[in-house]
Amino acid sequence: MFTYVKSNGVGYYYSTLLKSMHAFATRKGGVSESPYTSGLNLAFGRGDDEMVVLQNLRLLASAVGVDAERVISLPQVHGTEVLTVTSADAGRGYTKPANGTGDGYMTLDKGVPLGVKSADCVPVLLEARDADGRVLAVAAVHAGWRGTAGGIVVNAVKALRHSCGDAEIYAAIGPCIGACCFEVDKDCVDEFDRLCGREIVDACFIRAQNGKYYGDLVKVNRMLLHSAGVDDAHIDAAGICTCCHPDRFFSHRYAAKHHDGKRGTMLSVIWK
Ligand SMILES: [Zn+2]
Repeated sequence: MFTYVKSNGVGYYYSTLLKSMHAFATRKGGVSESPYTSGLNLAFGRGDDEMVVLQNLRLLASAVGVDAERVISLPQVHGTEVLTVTSADAGRGYTKPANGTGDGYMTLDKGVPLGVKSADCVPVLLEARDADGRVLAVAAVHAGWRGTAGGIVVNAVKALRHSCGDAEIYAAIGPCIGACCFEVDKDCVDEFDRLCGREIVDACFIRAQNGKYYGDLVKVNRMLLHSAGVDDAHIDAAGICTCCHPDRFFSHRYAAKHHDGKRGTMLSVIWK
């Protein structure tokens, strides 16, 4: 179950399923003032000064109880690779040079907050627990439609299993664009068909009368998690559409329709 919290003005969601500390930030709170990023923009290069983005990071970090200087979040490229990071990587992408790109992370180390940025794309936070319920490792992925189709969430499960053996995997799927708003062309559906197979396409895409398709990215990620052996009871999903609630979330689609794509970006973060 997802719960909304407001702390020092910063609004974020968390899943009661995960034991690890984590947060799916909204745009609520923060000091960004430009009309389209107003609130808690957590990405460089969207019109805010770097100092404003870092101030937003500190506000979020203070609200959720993590060290802002240690949050890792590299520039994202809609890839499918999940990087294994350690405490030596802490801070990369925000307070230290990125030196690379990344859409997914896994760590065994404590106090290494993994951050993924999104504005409609699917943020997924995961943890691996041993038989006694102790968290062994955490992971975070940014799954846009390309990352989703390419199976980045499956790669995160593989990375956790590679390091933790036959641990139980738990996953929380944050707020993202819903099937109500994720309209795509046949080319996109064909790519899902090629990469994920017919069963997922039939279950997750609906053809509209105008020839367009509507896709359910949460359901695709859920089915991919099943295929990777994750029990459905170990998967939680916010079920909130970012595009339908532009007051609460930054949304790529909403911004593209209403203000030339100008928008901020949210951060989801998990740490052991
Ligand atoms: Zn919607």
